[in-house]
This record gives sequence, C-alpha cells and structure tokens, in this order.
Amino acid sequence: MDEAPPPLDPREEFFELVSSVRALVGFHEMTGAWGLPLHGPGGPSVVEEAPAAQAPVMPTTPTPSAPEQGRSYAAAPGPGRAFVAPTFAMPQAPVAAPVQQASPARAPSLRAEMLTPEARVERLHLLQAEVAGCTRCGLSVTRTNTVFARGNPLSDLCFVGEGPGFDEDLSGEPFVGPAGQLLDKMIVAMGYRRDEVYICNIVKCRPPENRKPDPDEMEACRGYLVTQLELVRPKFIVALGATAIQGLLGTTEGITRLRGKWKMYKGVPVMPTFHPAYLLRQPTAKRDTWTDLQEVMARLGKKPPVRA
Ligand code: SF4
Repeated sequence: MDEAPPPLDPREEFFELVSSVRALVGFHEMTGAWGLPLHGPGGPSVVEEAPAAQAPVMPTTPTPSAPEQGRSYAAAPGPGRAFVAPTFAMPQAPVAAPVQQASPARAPSLRAEMLTPEARVERLHLLQAEVAGCTRCGLSVTRTNTVFARGNPLSDLCFVGEGPGFDEDLSGEPFVGPAGQLLDKMIVAMGYRRDEVYICNIVKCRPPENRKPDPDEMEACRGYLVTQLELVRPKFIVALGATAIQGLLGTTEGITRLRGKWKMYKGVPVMPTFHPAYLLRQPTAKRDTWTDLQEVMARLGKKPPVRA
C-alpha cells in the first residue's frame, strides 16, 4: 500500500504560493492587461511614470492654435506593415524648475517582444509624453522643446544621433537642420524614404551652444533611449558619431577607430559611422560613411535606388 505523502512544509507552501502569484502578475503586466502599480528594482513602468498631471490629452485632430511641439511619428510604414502610426501634435508640459534626480531615468520592466505593434506605438506615445515633462537634468532649463523621435516607430532601421541642435530644439523634431537634410539624403541613397526609418538621439533636450552632452546628462536620459529602442525593436542601428556610440555602448573610443566595425547593443547589430554634422565640415569623410551604410544595406538586403 502506498504511503501517504508527507505533509508539505508550511514555508515551502508559502513560497510556492508567492511564486505563482508573481508569475501571474508578471504575465498581466507584460501583456498590458493590468495597470498594476508595481515597482520593480528598475523603477516604475512607462505607463506608471506618465503622471496624470503631465500626460497630455492626445487630440484626435490637431488644434490649429496648439503648439507643434514634440511631434513625431510621421506615418510612413514600410512595405508589408499593416499598422499606420498616427501623426498628432503633442502639447508639451510646462518646464518646471529642474529637479536633480538621485537616480537616472530607468527602463520599465516590460517585455516589448510580447506587445502588439499597436501597443508598442501606444507605449512610445506615453514615453514621449513623459519626456515632454522631464526635468531630470539641467538641460530642461534651457530647452525650448524636447525632441523625441521622428519616422516610422516600427522600422527595422534606427539612426541614433547625439542630441538636438538649434533647429531641432525649435521644431521639436530630430535632424531637421542642415545635418538632418544631409542625413535625409543618406537615407534616400540607401533606398529608403525619409520617414521610413526611425531617428532619435541620446539626449532629448538641446545642450546649450550645441555642446556635447555631459556624462551625467547622458546617464539621466539613458533610460528613455533604452525603453525607446526596446519598443521600436529595430533590426539594425546606425550610431551617428562618437557621442551616439558612447551613449549606446559606453565606449570612449573615437569614432575614427570605431566606424565601419559592427558592434552589438542588447543583441542588435550597431554600425558606428560619422555624424552628418561632421560630414558637412569634412566632406571627404562621406566616402567612408557610404561604405559603412552599404554594410548596413547589405545586411538589410537593400539596394540603392536606380537613378533615372
Ligand atoms: Fe530629461 Fe533627457 Fe531632457 Fe535631461 S535631456 S531633461 S534627462 S529628457
């Protein structure tokens, strides 16, 4: 006759119960089914970090008098993409006195690979709203607008630059000045439309006088970029300039040594190359940059457009 199983240790029973509840809560949090106020070691999630007072009401149609600030996501899905990202004006929260945070912006504890494309774009909107009210570093004092991103948030290809310049600070869009116009030409030369790729920066506010962002400013802003890239899920990243590759990988090596050599960021191949602003000053470096971009095109199976 079988012996009756020994009674379960109450402590084991308790641990089993706790781990079951944790697994269930984690699943619902990851799939976005619940908005539970969970705060893991990485801090609150994107949804939780968008405070009601700062989260703007997203208009279904742009209000003519509303300032065109922080706009992004020109709807330009790539071939085969069913989802069309909305374009809308994102009102900015008023800039408050800077509050130096003890900890940097943190990535949310979400599993972006489990989200639908629509949910990823929605979370990007929430993140953009959070960035619009951010005062985590001193750049919030001198900025006119935060600059979140432009292009297709579901693109396979993402360009990461350093930070907004004069024109970007005024418009709220990245890469719209002379360097941006050159970047657009590079993108077209690669066989993409301007808005078919995703473009963002290491820091979301303009450093005064277009100086390089300080390490503490880059660190304060890092969580936003980490989350942004988790949600966009590009297959390839092009890092534009030394600051971009430094912000992504933490390396201090110069771009001249790094360019043209594949690196990895959280499992995503990264191609470092020169920043378009540098190419405006050093046009002879365009040839190397084109070589780097051709490496990316080869991996993506892209060919330059045939000229008429
Ligand atoms: Fe916040 Fe980044 Fe702007 Fe600093 S640069 S205020 S961390 S959004």
